[in-house]
Amino acid sequence: MFRQMFEEKYMRFEGGKTKAVTFSYDDGVVADKRLIEILDKYGLKGTFNLNSLLFGCERWHGRMDEQQTYLTFYSRPHEIALHGARHIYLNKVPLPEAVNEIVQNRRYLEDRFDRIVRGMAYAYNGYNQDIKEVLKMTGVAYARTTNATRTFEIPQDFWEWNPTCHHTDPELLPLAERFLSLSPESEFKMREPLLFYVWGHSYEFDDDNWGVIEELAQKISGRDDVWYATNIEICDYINAYRSLVFSLDGERVYNPSAIPVYIEIRGKVYRIEPAQTIRFDKEI
Ligand SMILES: [Zn+2]
Repeated sequence: MFRQMFEEKYMRFEGGKTKAVTFSYDDGVVADKRLIEILDKYGLKGTFNLNSLLFGCERWHGRMDEQQTYLTFYSRPHEIALHGARHIYLNKVPLPEAVNEIVQNRRYLEDRFDRIVRGMAYAYNGYNQDIKEVLKMTGVAYARTTNATRTFEIPQDFWEWNPTCHHTDPELLPLAERFLSLSPESEFKMREPLLFYVWGHSYEFDDDNWGVIEELAQKISGRDDVWYATNIEICDYINAYRSLVFSLDGERVYNPSAIPVYIEIRGKVYRIEPAQTIRFDKEI
């Protein structure tokens, strides 16, 4: 019998959603507080990349002191992540020094905030293959670059996670419009899930353009088909999806991870519980 379409399998995000939005902001500056208020107001989630030896360095775009940083991020739904202890180019120092930057930064943030910290954004976009290997060896799950793709692609290499765009990109709002107008679940071939990833520095909004992020937040929030998540939540989810184990004919699937995973096949979305094996319906 001719089976018309949709034999292919597609990842769906939490709740079976086809799209996800995330934010990533660097340096731990005073303006982060206002950004967090905006994210919270609209139910958005973001990741804040913090150094650990530059507290109170106010001349550097108003960095928060240690206590302010703690109070700003502790007990918030947002992620804190690494940005190097001293905000240096990791690819322009001897490798042991780069290792020290990462390890010191991770140790501080984990101890101070009493949580596991596994994300990172490269300071100055400074990285190379050796640095990526160091991150893998030190338990860092992903690292964000500043290489804007202007696409909504799911990252292949989490240690070189390219964002969609910076918030000052003139294409920001057109990209958001396009992202919202797409509906992978109703396409014939372009059914892949979509990720809209915005990065920047909140101090850049102090140049009288808080309206940009407010407009974006308003536009992109409150959608039933969009999952609003931190960087690490998205990374962990995609890795869980990628860890699914299939039978040879692709009709059975086992979820060895600790989180429920959603998959679409033949136009139907399945939720696979942790440690569960399911069989897909043959015909819909
Ligand atoms: Zn930075």
